[in-house]
Amino acid sequence: GVLVRELAALYEALRQRAPSPLPELPVQYADYAVWQRQWLAGETLRGQLDWWKLLLAGAPQALEVPTDKPRPATLSHAGASVPMHLPLALTEAAEALARREGATPYMLLLAAFQAVLQRYSGQDDVLVGSPIAGRRHASTEGLIGFFVNTLVLRARFTPALTFRELLAQVRDTTLGAYEHQDVPFEKLVEELHPSRDLGRTPLFQVLFVLQNTPDAGLSLPELTLRGVAVEHTVSRFELELGLSRAPDGYRGGIIFSTELFEPSTAARLAAQIQLLLEGALATPDAPLTALPLQTTEDRQQVLVEWNGAAADFRRDTCFHTLFEQQARRTPHAPAVILGDSALSYARLNARANQLAAHLRSLGVGPDVTVGLCLERTPEAIVALLAVLKAGGAYVPIDPSAPAQRKSFVLQDCGASVLLTVQSLAEAWRPQVRHLLCLDTEAARLAVLPESDVPSSVRAENLAYVIYTSGSTGTPKGVMVQHRSVLHLHEATARTLYAGQPRGLRVSLNAPLFFDVSVEQLIHLADGHCLCLLPEDTRKDPEEMLAWLEAQRVDVLDCTPAQLHLLLQAGLLERTHVPRLVVCAGEAMDLSLWQPLSRTRRTRTINAYGPTEGTVYATTWCVQDSSVQVPVIGQPLPNTRAYVLDEQLRPTPVGVPGELYLAGEGVARGYLGRPELTAERFVPDPFSTEAGLRLYRTGDKARWRQDGTLEYLGRLDFQVKVRGYRIELGEVESTLRTHPAVKDAVVLAREDVPGDKRLVAYVVPAHGEGADSPALDVAELRAHVRRHLPPYMLPAAFVPLTTLPLTANGKVDRKALPAPEAALDSEQAHEPPATPMEEQLAELWRDLLRVPRVGRRDNF
Ligand code: AMP
Ligand code: MG
Repeated sequence: GVLVRELAALYEALRQRAPSPLPELPVQYADYAVWQRQWLAGETLRGQLDWWKLLLAGAPQALEVPTDKPRPATLSHAGASVPMHLPLALTEAAEALARREGATPYMLLLAAFQAVLQRYSGQDDVLVGSPIAGRRHASTEGLIGFFVNTLVLRARFTPALTFRELLAQVRDTTLGAYEHQDVPFEKLVEELHPSRDLGRTPLFQVLFVLQNTPDAGLSLPELTLRGVAVEHTVSRFELELGLSRAPDGYRGGIIFSTELFEPSTAARLAAQIQLLLEGALATPDAPLTALPLQTTEDRQQVLVEWNGAAADFRRDTCFHTLFEQQARRTPHAPAVILGDSALSYARLNARANQLAAHLRSLGVGPDVTVGLCLERTPEAIVALLAVLKAGGAYVPIDPSAPAQRKSFVLQDCGASVLLTVQSLAEAWRPQVRHLLCLDTEAARLAVLPESDVPSSVRAENLAYVIYTSGSTGTPKGVMVQHRSVLHLHEATARTLYAGQPRGLRVSLNAPLFFDVSVEQLIHLADGHCLCLLPEDTRKDPEEMLAWLEAQRVDVLDCTPAQLHLLLQAGLLERTHVPRLVVCAGEAMDLSLWQPLSRTRRTRTINAYGPTEGTVYATTWCVQDSSVQVPVIGQPLPNTRAYVLDEQLRPTPVGVPGELYLAGEGVARGYLGRPELTAERFVPDPFSTEAGLRLYRTGDKARWRQDGTLEYLGRLDFQVKVRGYRIELGEVESTLRTHPAVKDAVVLAREDVPGDKRLVAYVVPAHGEGADSPALDVAELRAHVRRHLPPYMLPAAFVPLTTLPLTANGKVDRKALPAPEAALDSEQAHEPPATPMEEQLAELWRDLLRVPRVGRRDNF
């Protein structure tokens, strides 16, 4: 304002060749600077700094607004802007509410902005920066110089907070910040020394500016003046909301980092601020979480338009019946191959029928569970089909799990029949009514009738029960019905495999206790051939490539970790590359996505789905160039995906929420666990049909504006390590059962990119006193091995005297240190002894990034 006035006065004076009419300045900027240095010192400075330290204590490192583009390590200042206009009626209503609440429009607009940011970030703690003029003294008004300071304004959110309450909070914070505005932002950063990150500005990443200088109405004689819209090509922060009061309402725009966001996201954000503000003005006493961020059309889009089309799938049959029909069509075609041995469709069907007949005689029928502890062998496929044909539900048991865990599963599922082989049974000695060793019983089974076994099984009956890690310490059995398996078959046939020829060679490489194996198995309904991957080959990428080539595999299912290894080993450079790669089980990262998205040698599908949703719920083709970042795509036909907030309301496009699944794939529940089932399988509020349920996945996701879903991590302590689903709570409770352990926390850490592993933090029972023994890592390892499968064994154990806690008394997982070494020695250090050992040790040091490697170290 002052500047404009002075410009007008000088222009007028110079035009008339008169001397400057402006009075001498009482002080100069240098005078101010000297004064400020003297004044802002000692007690005054302390007092101001202390206030800020209190305000910002325990503030989060960053506001995590999900970005459209992968976040670069160093953020440049490339930016752009979108316009924003709050209509006059809304502007005036906002101003009136602010007046009634003893607040300013600035405070009210900031509150609305912070409320929207809260929804985007999901954080209950939102820090926004805001510039302040800093000319507190009248004598500084006419000075040219750097006065502007930036204030950090923190808003705290609780579940029931209303807009009126938030406004009061923002008012108090803002008034306090004004009182303490003299501490330069740089000084504050220096004092608080937040951990620095070139990808993020310190303390806050989002700015709010309200230009409230009244329009000075510059008018100069003989000149016509009009405003020119400035195009912003620079963004100092990730997002900046800038508004000023125009005669027709608040106008301005959102400046955004073009390295992080698309213009449409900024535009949507602008619209959502307006929507939230409208809601807040209409119901200032409603909880903020109830305020709308989406229009009816937006809601319709995410609920209906983007959801899996309802398709007319057959429901009158079962997968094994389709297989039987296929066996009649192509009796001589190979169905299962392992190395040199092969089973034709006719043989596979005949042998499965023989075993099924026997199972029937043992009482197997609809909803009767049958344990199946077998490696990935043709016998396992025979057994699996036999259980289905007999009408029962198979329960795969991990042969490599410790005996105790296998017994738990066997007992928990209530099976009275266990199908296995002699060698596995000897190592385990399972307690079960009918122990059936397929190898030793082979002759007896071979004389049974080979014809199809009639059964009364129906679509509602169980096809299988797969156990997954349970957070409370024991695994839980997911009950999947035949109708869901049939659905998976039809849905994938119409999408992933549409247009593929018959007789494909499909790899079966997942363990049978992973539900992905079901998706591989159902190819037997279409005359394709299953190529069983030998277990040793699975562990070696070079050998696996050779195997894929030798077997001429057309369709490969694998986890991202496996695919990474295969790509590194040269999958795409081979003469034979599978025509279709289905990557599932874990999030694909950019380093996997990018090279695949450019290749024309194979089609890669990112498939997402929990066991409770029957293998796959959403899919996306990586080579589809309309999306540049990893997405989990769109729901399969007859599958619906909802991204919901805590009140089960759909979140708007761009805003993260929990992913829920509905449709034919939703499992019946957890076997024998009605409470857990009720907690995770909830009534479907979007369905008109009674009795339908949604499965709460515990996955965080959001809809992107292109109608695809983006996976954003877990909302709980479930992790995936090399495709294995692990509840950290289960490992923790196992550790706590050891008498030497007082407390334990387990994390899945990725300190070296691409190397995710479990790390256990253990507080020994006797404290760390001089007379107490240190943690016996070898003993703890053995303890875990006795109870949990190998993939749940932590790679490192870190002893701690106490667990770090957050301000509100929860374990502060972020404060847990990275383990010092990538390896854990169970024995004393012995240095390398020969030149060869020396060389090897050096290689390991480089690879594992550890300072020291000894002869006895365990990797
Ligand atoms: P599971 O029951 O073993 O299939 O594990 C399901 C969980 O694995 C999901 O809830 C996700 O957390 C994760 N998951 C599976 N597939 C994907 C994928 N394609 N992208 C990201 N996460 C995935
Ligand atoms: Mg899955």
